[in-house]
Amino acid sequence: MSKHERPWGYQPRTGEAGPSWQLHPDTLSVRSGLSRSGFGETSEALYLNSGFTYTSAEEAVSSFADETDHFLYSRFGNPTVAMFENRLAAIEGAEFCTATGSGMSAMFASVACMVQAGDHIVAAAAMFSSCYVVLNEILPKWGVTVEFVRGNNPEVWAKTLSKPTKVVFIETPSNPMLEVTDLRMVSDLAHKVGATVIVDNVMSSPVLQKPLQHGADVVMYSATKHIDGQGRVLGGAILGSAEYKDKYLSQFIRHTGPSMSAFNAWVLVKSLETLSMRVERMNASAQKIAEFLQIQPKIKSVNYPGLTSHPDYAIVQKQMLGGGTTISFEYNGPATELFAMMNKLAVIDISNNLADSKSLITHPASTTHRRLTPELRAELGITDSVVRFSVGLEHPDDLIRDFQEALK
Ligand SMILES: *Cc1c(COP(=O)(O)O)cnc(C)c1O
Repeated sequence: MSKHERPWGYQPRTGEAGPSWQLHPDTLSVRSGLSRSGFGETSEALYLNSGFTYTSAEEAVSSFADETDHFLYSRFGNPTVAMFENRLAAIEGAEFCTATGSGMSAMFASVACMVQAGDHIVAAAAMFSSCYVVLNEILPKWGVTVEFVRGNNPEVWAKTLSKPTKVVFIETPSNPMLEVTDLRMVSDLAHKVGATVIVDNVMSSPVLQKPLQHGADVVMYSATKHIDGQGRVLGGAILGSAEYKDKYLSQFIRHTGPSMSAFNAWVLVKSLETLSMRVERMNASAQKIAEFLQIQPKIKSVNYPGLTSHPDYAIVQKQMLGGGTTISFEYNGPATELFAMMNKLAVIDISNNLADSKSLITHPASTTHRRLTPELRAELGITDSVVRFSVGLEHPDDLIRDFQEALK
């Protein structure tokens, strides 16, 4: 294994042993993965280069044969990207992390690297619409069959998972209705038929949910969301076991090229330092705001995993450390009235991004989820009166006041 793939965890200064105890994830967020150049810079360096040189033709040969620790080409690996990957792997508690250019390239690569014509995939039905297009349109075109399961009924899952299945794909909580899937129950059933469980953990971030601890095999992120969390760059990541990486993922990434740019990795490695502070603050605000929204007469229903009224609150308690940073709710009135309410908001921006430091509101039926058929939207509860609200870092009292004024 080459050097840039190995060193996650704390990097001791030269000649010094690292700490003798297991570091807290918050410490790993700041310290792990750091690989200093000879200049001893404090902050992570940006290696904005595509290629690398060799001291001799022989060194090039042994580097390509993986016998020396040497970066080859930034599509395969880059020192700044490696710092981001190693740090995120340490936070997640995964054996490896591979960074990609966007969340969708992570989603696609994580599944596509495993399947071939004739293979079967089972997925939790509620999910981000681009993930749904990959599973329902793109992969079936190549001869892969896909079945969707709704809810947490163990009998329904057991029946669906009674035939050979290559991949089980779960987005929990789901975007935008915050449906929750029981990771342990589904993972145990999936493993009985030899399936690999891949979890889209975008809505929770590693701060609030660690799927690998609840039976999942692979985790993927849109780093665009909480990890950047400041509306600057796109990014994605895939994490899991070294076996999955060596058997399926490495080859696929290396030759299809969804690699992350060094610049984006440099932004994102610094963002990881503040990830838990930001997510904890946004999560606490979201809980407070969800409780406020729940008692507003103009609001018909609120979906938020941190509310005891959430249909799967018991599962939330089992696998999540908080309800998350996103709330969706159904307005008590037609879409025209709902749009008027959104237009009156003075602090909260109308935007289809989420998990940003700025609070953002969107109307999924006409934007992020317009690609789904009206029938499927209806089945998933994404009516024309539903909005998704991503809670940012503003003071929660200002966000509550913004809704109070707009709901008048
Ligand atoms: C945004 C999002 C993605 C896709 O991420 P990009 O970085 O936009 O490509 C995938 N899954 C979920 C749940 C998302 O919210």
